[in-house]
Amino acid sequence: MEILVINAGSSSLKYQLINVETGNVLAKGLAERIGMDGSNIVHSWTKDEKEYKKEINIDLPDHTVAFNAISDLLVGDETGVIREREDIKAIGHRVVHGAEAYTQTQVITDEVKKAIEELIPLAPLHNPANLIGINAAEKAFPNATQVAVFDTAFHHTIPEKAFRYAIPEKFYREDRIRAYGFHGTSHKYVYEQASKYLNKTDLKAITIHLGNGASMCAINEKGESVETSMGFGPLAGLIMGTRSGDIDPSIIFHMAEEMNMPLDEVKNILNKQSGMLGIAGSNDARDVSKLYHAGDRNAILCYEMYTHRIKKYIGAYTAVLNGVDAIIFTAGIGENDALTRQLACQNLSALGIILSEEANISKNHPKQPVEIQAENSRVKILVVPTNEELEIALQTWEVVK
Ligand code: ADP
Repeated sequence: MEILVINAGSSSLKYQLINVETGNVLAKGLAERIGMDGSNIVHSWTKDEKEYKKEINIDLPDHTVAFNAISDLLVGDETGVIREREDIKAIGHRVVHGAEAYTQTQVITDEVKKAIEELIPLAPLHNPANLIGINAAEKAFPNATQVAVFDTAFHHTIPEKAFRYAIPEKFYREDRIRAYGFHGTSHKYVYEQASKYLNKTDLKAITIHLGNGASMCAINEKGESVETSMGFGPLAGLIMGTRSGDIDPSIIFHMAEEMNMPLDEVKNILNKQSGMLGIAGSNDARDVSKLYHAGDRNAILCYEMYTHRIKKYIGAYTAVLNGVDAIIFTAGIGENDALTRQLACQNLSALGIILSEEANISKNHPKQPVEIQAENSRVKILVVPTNEELEIALQTWEVVK
């Protein structure tokens, strides 16, 4: 069975058509600049084990037109991988925020759409775009079952002592202010891959997702998320590409009151101009690592700060879990940047975490889970490639099969 996986942005649609029995990606692509001038689709597909790619410049006034164009590509003579549009029986949508209403994958009904809409104040950037994607997919694929997979769902097992903020209760009960956590699909996927690889069902693990956004998660022996570093929104926790991660909230009051900065500007600085970009001048770890090796002072400081933060959370989560069997690196930086893993694991032998520097380098950028700890390390250190699209496809399949 083929499942179309959709990650909708306000002006973009990322898609993958996945055969859930084999896990093979039949086609994937990105439609960009929807509703703007210069819109296009980059579509790639696999035929007879060969990969092909094509860029199509096409007017995409809205998401429904984009879906129709994608569908034409999926069935087209040259670019097609399925016979007809109706072969797609289910579509899995990444939805960022399900709050406490949705702790599981859901078949999308009018009620679910209303709830996603109602949650817009909690995810003002993402939920509206996800909703546009769902409505457009319903129009373009009326016969397919639409399914929502929530980024927050995996974290629903976090206990109240960990998800509540120490502010008056009213803000939780009436205004839903609490920690939700994100990247749930990725944390769950890499944990399960590691558990399978290590052949251990009662694995206690710390998963470290380091992409443009970054978060960590403490997962107990039952496979439940019990702590995560993002909170009410995605600004908390680790240092990211352009986000600050944890800061003292008094800095915000200081910027607003003493420095007379409008709140919008403060928000923009913390979300878009901070993190690696703010410290080292680039939000791409590849640039920053080049500068690090060239001895650039800011790049060195950036790596030190970035990995110090990860280390603090490793310590905290080892305490939360009362010991850990494995730590798992994933996503763009976690999978590909040996320097980050090396610095994050340095001087952690007191916790039983010892990296093999040789394995860390030789097993960089793996296609499958790999181990990179030293022989005398009590804790396994793994690099596991994440695959959020496959996880969304599998969860979609679970509810429609
Ligand atoms: P997202 O899905 O959050 O957009 P990714 O998981 O693709 O992000 O990760 C993006 C990050 O991964 C970027 O900071 C990029 O620099 C980093 N990255 C990708 N490849 C490499 C590499 N070979 N070495 C170091 N960093 C890399």
